[in-house]
Amino acid sequence: MPESEPTPFPIALACPRCHQQHVDEGEWATRVHRKHKCVPGPFGPGCGAVWQPADAPTVGVMRSFQIDDMLHTPDSRGPH
Ligand SMILES: [Zn+2]
Ligand SMILES: [Zn+2]
Repeated sequence: MPESEPTPFPIALACPRCHQQHVDEGEWATRVHRKHKCVPGPFGPGCGAVWQPADAPTVGVMRSFQIDDMLHTPDSRGPH
């Protein structure tokens, strides 16, 4: 087990150039990396920009969507 592998910070990342959300999934969810690349994904086509959001390694996650979802859940079928 490598001793010096830091745990990446999970943060919500967006591309600084095209503002596409960057979520590290699959292999990249477990691979520690500092620089992120805007690639094609579920959120858009990607622009190829590479950026480093912090000195520490980070992992792009979905932004804290729970609260948003609760606010926007279409759970009511009409006025009551
Ligand atoms: Zn990444
Ligand atoms: Zn981009």
